[in-house]
Amino acid sequence: MYIFTSKKELQKYLATLTSAKTIGFIPTMGALHQGHLQLITESKNQCDISICSIFVNPTQFNNPEDLAKYPNTLKVDLEKLEQLACDIVYTPTVEDLYEKDEQAKSFDFGSLTIGMEGEFRPGHFNGMATIVEKFFNIINPTKAFFGQKDLQQLQIVKALAKQMQSDIQIIGIPTIREENGLAKSSRNELLTTSAKQEATLVYKCLQYCKNNQELAIPTLEKYIQEQFKNNPHFKLEYIDFVSLSTLLPITKWEAKNQNAICIAAYIEGVRLIDNIIL
Ligand code: AMP
Repeated sequence: MYIFTSKKELQKYLATLTSAKTIGFIPTMGALHQGHLQLITESKNQCDISICSIFVNPTQFNNPEDLAKYPNTLKVDLEKLEQLACDIVYTPTVEDLYEKDEQAKSFDFGSLTIGMEGEFRPGHFNGMATIVEKFFNIINPTKAFFGQKDLQQLQIVKALAKQMQSDIQIIGIPTIREENGLAKSSRNELLTTSAKQEATLVYKCLQYCKNNQELAIPTLEKYIQEQFKNNPHFKLEYIDFVSLSTLLPITKWEAKNQNAICIAAYIEGVRLIDNIIL
């Protein structure tokens, strides 16, 4: 496994590969868990060479405290990647990717950034798209792999690739979950054992919607809001029923697999997000 800490070294190596080789790219912020590793496995299945980046991107954090306490487990991460036989890891410094005082670019993704994470994490998607665009330009992968757990991010990255007039294929990978249904996340490690169990409420609500799709959307929405109200440990930030293509709210179901239900909620001060496509 090659480890590069500068884009120059990485690009120098990539230039030695024949253009016939397909390249899979998996951007991460480290603290790798089974969800991340699934993206690597998919890339390995679909591409000749897999490149995983580990970079905590400062421009996508609207809260400096959140950035400061982001976990760094590089040594263990590299061991996990080595075990999966990931071909290349790119672990750049901030200076390798940003000029001094460089800010996030301003993008226009239309309706995709209006609600949900766009509303509650202002500036987050400009920062995310800024770094993903940089990575795409440096690596120019054949395919890039993103988790459906961050559904809004996935849809925005697809729009970004289009705006860049790039041929990079954006591949969405289904959410990997704990046995009890809780979506895997590095933030789960911050939860006590009892909160981890209670946190399954998010998944249970999404499953309830799946099993009761004959009910009207406002009825389901009210039901979920009540579930969260009845649990004093939870603070629901949003529950949105949206059209998958526009991410705008819907009150009536669209065609099968064109609807998404997205939830963000705090438990023990830890922010969890999850979604389901119906
Ligand atoms: P992050 O390191 O949090 O930026 O995540 C890196 C990538 O892993 C993103 O594309 C996420 O959507 C994806 N990811 C995170 N958690 C999961 C999960 N539980 N299942 C599948 N993909 C995930």
